[in-house]
Amino acid sequence: MTEREMENLDRKLIKRGFKVDGVRELCAACGERAQRIYRLVGGRIGGRDIHWCLACDVATSVLRDGSDALRKDDDFDLVKFLG
Ligand SMILES: [Zn+2]
Repeated sequence: MTEREMENLDRKLIKRGFKVDGVRELCAACGERAQRIYRLVGGRIGGRDIHWCLACDVATSVLRDGSDALRKDDDFDLVKFLG
């Protein structure tokens, strides 16, 4: 992914209401401190966290329900999600 594509995805996430909740977090996949965390707070209906590593490009997501319980979104694909 090019820097331009990354900036584009970043912009789309912000546009959808995600807030950056961490930069340069440790990535479990590659061990680099290059993971960004985006958080969407959805109130009563719940929200979503996205962990996106800018070094290895792995993006994972968890859904957060109204009671703050977390559920992993196994089929998550960042590009499709924003497409
Ligand atoms: Zn990584």
